Amino acid sequence: MKRDYYEILGVQKNASESELKKAYRKLAMQYHPDRNPDNKEAEEKFKEAAEAYEVLRDPEKRSLYDAYGHEGLKGTGFAGFRGAEDIFTSFGDIFEDFFGFGTRRRERTYAQQGADLRYDLEISFMDAVKGKETEIEIDKYEGCKNCNGSGAAPGTEPVICPLCRGSGQVTRSQGFFHISTTCHQCHGAGRVIKEPCKECKGSGNIKKKKKLSVKIPAGVDTGSTLRLKGEGEEEKRGGPSGDLYVIVHVKEHDFFHRDGYNVICQIPISFSQAALGAEIDVPTLDSVEKLAIPKGTQTGKIFKIEGVGIPHIRGHAKGDQIVQVVVKTPAKLTKRQEELLRELAETSGEDIKHKGKGFFKMF
Ligand SMILES: [Zn+2]
Ligand SMILES: [Zn+2]
Repeated sequence: MKRDYYEILGVQKNASESELKKAYRKLAMQYHPDRNPDNKEAEEKFKEAAEAYEVLRDPEKRSLYDAYGHEGLKGTGFAGFRGAEDIFTSFGDIFEDFFGFGTRRRERTYAQQGADLRYDLEISFMDAVKGKETEIEIDKYEGCKNCNGSGAAPGTEPVICPLCRGSGQVTRSQGFFHISTTCHQCHGAGRVIKEPCKECKGSGNIKKKKKLSVKIPAGVDTGSTLRLKGEGEEEKRGGPSGDLYVIVHVKEHDFFHRDGYNVICQIPISFSQAALGAEIDVPTLDSVEKLAIPKGTQTGKIFKIEGVGIPHIRGHAKGDQIVQVVVKTPAKLTKRQEELLRELAETSGEDIKHKGKGFFKMF
């Protein structure tokens, strides 16, 4: 159960913007990771407070939250914070404001997560319908084995940056003001490498091609996303790897089209079949089904074959096949066929004014 955001910050429902900020500031100072190293509980409290503040400081999110509670935020794309780094990224300005000096210390003791990766996978219509196991190849950065990801040549170690003394930030004082900027010697890393590793040229990472087997469940559609946990980028400092998101794109099929879990197709039938009724063969995803066309069927009529459509991704149910018949007018007739059709026209009292090619004789 998620706690109430107002309760977390310890403010009234009608708290003003500055009251919210003040309340958040107090909690952020109290639970800041730099003050509570390796304290899981403090980290959770730090995250919780940041989430509450992130929502309540935004008038739009706040009114959604006031009206519908946590449920109300589901459509906003807001999902809380993954870790302290997220919080610093979102609230960098506020932290500068709170503490008056650089707080984004780089020498943190808590682990970050590696970056997520994305892969776009194009598959055929039938593979989407039936599912498939396929292999993909991704470019992935892995921690350099030669230097264990440090970037420093084996036997040496990165040294604390002499300019910023490891903080990654350089602070200048001007009277009462403190202005901090990213250290230009270590680019904010807090450490400098004297002798770079030859394998990774000091980056600590090596780009590698990696083959992965992906199981595509039957029933996926364009936009379906498969998550391969832990197959994203590695995290150098030993935190968990990111995830790989495979985004599915399904190619069009010549005959079958998709509407949700239903399959739509068009079947041509002859004028005689439409008029007299017939039993026709309809290709389905798995086989061929017989479909009875009743006497006097009009072009465009829709029939349904139940349960032969696309399988639901979760569960065993299948959609239906929607068959639209299209009556084809005969274009080439034998002499005998033409006679029969004329006879038909005459018996139904239809007016056939001209014969065959003689159309222009009318004028
Ligand atoms: Zn290396
Ligand atoms: Zn530095």
